[in-house]
Amino acid sequence: MSGLLNREIKLVEGSNIAVIGGGPSGSFFTYYALEFASRLDLNISIDIYEAKNFNKIGAGGCNHCGGIISESLVQKLSTDGIIIPTEIIQRSINTYTMHVENGDAVIQTPSKEHRIASVFRGCGPKGCLDTSQRSFDNYLLDLCKEKGAQVILEKITELERCDDGIIVKSKKSVNKKYDLVVGGVGLNKKALKMFEQVCTQFVPPKLTRTYISEFYLGRDQVDEYFGGSMHVFLLNLPQVTFGALIPKDDYVTLVLLGKDIDKEIVENFITSEQVKGCFPKHMILRDSAPCKCYPFINVKGAVQPYDHNIVLIGDSASSKLYKNGIGAAYITGRAAAKTAVFEGICKKSFQNSYKKVCRDLDKDNRVGKLIFLVTRIIQRSSLLKKAVLNSVLREQRATNTKKLMSSALWDTFTGSASYRNILRRFFHPLLLFNLIRGIFSKPQIIDQSHLKNKQKNLGHIYKNGEVIIKQGTSGNCLFVIQEGKVEVINEHNGDDIKLAELGETEFFGEMGLFEKDVRSCTVKALGVVRVLTIDKKNFYESIQNDASLAYRLLEKMSNRLRDANKMINV
Ligand SMILES: Cc1cc2nc3c(=O)[nH]c(=O)nc-3n(C[C@H](O)[C@H](O)[C@H](O)COP(=O)(O)OP(=O)(O)OC[C@H]3O[C@@H](n4cnc5c(N)ncnc54)[C@H](O)[C@@H]3O)c2cc1C
Repeated sequence: MSGLLNREIKLVEGSNIAVIGGGPSGSFFTYYALEFASRLDLNISIDIYEAKNFNKIGAGGCNHCGGIISESLVQKLSTDGIIIPTEIIQRSINTYTMHVENGDAVIQTPSKEHRIASVFRGCGPKGCLDTSQRSFDNYLLDLCKEKGAQVILEKITELERCDDGIIVKSKKSVNKKYDLVVGGVGLNKKALKMFEQVCTQFVPPKLTRTYISEFYLGRDQVDEYFGGSMHVFLLNLPQVTFGALIPKDDYVTLVLLGKDIDKEIVENFITSEQVKGCFPKHMILRDSAPCKCYPFINVKGAVQPYDHNIVLIGDSASSKLYKNGIGAAYITGRAAAKTAVFEGICKKSFQNSYKKVCRDLDKDNRVGKLIFLVTRIIQRSSLLKKAVLNSVLREQRATNTKKLMSSALWDTFTGSASYRNILRRFFHPLLLFNLIRGIFSKPQIIDQSHLKNKQKNLGHIYKNGEVIIKQGTSGNCLFVIQEGKVEVINEHNGDDIKLAELGETEFFGEMGLFEKDVRSCTVKALGVVRVLTIDKKNFYESIQNDASLAYRLLEKMSNRLRDANKMINV
């Protein structure tokens, strides 16, 4: 047996894979494994086993979560051609309202664009009447089905290693051998134990208890009281690291993160003046919402989440501390798929490339722990809280200053940047100077209620004929069309030459990423069009993860060049 385990194992024509767990990590693994295999003309099959039915309302159909899809994930998916449909998005978020005991401040998205989505993981909270298909997890599973995966709604109860693979069994009807078994079982303790039996050096992640509940307000009141703003609370309450209220379509989700959250901590939080102040006056907040739970969260990554023919992904392996867990599920799911398809499915292959991805997340989380420790110190000091609040309010009021504190807090709250990057920015001399100045200045109360505007969709909406990029101006970001059409125009000697029409999922502005030069064309909306901006940093990260994205881009650029040449020669 040991001789067999030392050999290199690769996916070959006809290989089969079982993905256990159809949450985001399982779906991202499947989607990218099938995508990568098709690029190699390699025929593989994937069965996804999922214990829950995401079409169900309430806990039975839900992977308990705040439901925030971070702006970095929204951008990465968009560059991959995955555009989250409107019916899945419960609200798009463009501001964060920060609450401390001394007051509150609205932090606007630095991009001035709606790039964060709030979603329901299942079909909606227990007791809700809307039964439309709006589950984010189901949407991802559907993408996998479109790529050719089979989804089997069954709970897997046993794994058994055999000479050339792993046998997957359920109590009902499954008993099938696979070349590779992928564990995307989240933090389900029984399922993780099952993997410990066949994955020799695997130690599951460390967990702590959190809290989620759903408050029904109705769409009009969510619009009026929350709009597109997520509320975050830095209150001096024991054991609470982070509290948030996330607006959905007609509900508001309350999330409490910290150490072993219990009923008493929840009561203290929801009866605080700052939390009550966010809701209509008549509403009595109690821990009695029909849909609530105390789910676990990953606070320390697993040890060695792989072995021959086995890899664990998402929460079961490594996640991002307290933030953007779905984004981390994307990172680990995609990285495991890349390793499996391009390198192999033996322990050595996962050790050589997948391990690094998990280790990077774990390393960054150590810095994250430091940031949350500093946040805790700030939460306990009214002087420091006043300083943070005043410097944010000053930045938000000013028009031409660098919004250093606001953007560092924005990335801390949204989880869009790495903790290392955020920590570095907190040491900027100007940020520290403004912080000290904030201690001595008077609280500035400004009306920022107009910032909480509501828009359901992601991206920026342009009216018919509106110019999105102008020839001759400089720019360094890429745009992906979410809905509608644009026209690409070359302005030459006073004439407008129409070069192309582009539609949904197509991108433009790519030249700005490569040259520090001016835009070569004008792009205008053809009818109403919704467009998402992709930052240079996010684009380069995507290219680093998948060089074929650069190939796709070059292919597009060369096609466009050829079309332009044809037009010139006509
Ligand atoms: C309080 C809280 C708030 C959060 N808020 C956010 C947020 O706003 N944004 C964000 O990005 N992340 C958030 N997260 C983190 C996020 O929920 C997770 O990181 C993410 O769901 C991980 O995805 P996953 O696929 O690894 O696991 P999961 O989403 O847990 O999916 C695992 C799946 O495996 C299935 N499964 C388990 N065992 C078996 C079995 N034996 N057989 C078949 N199927 C099985 C389960 O039914 C489940 O569907 C939050 C987490 C908590 C606890």
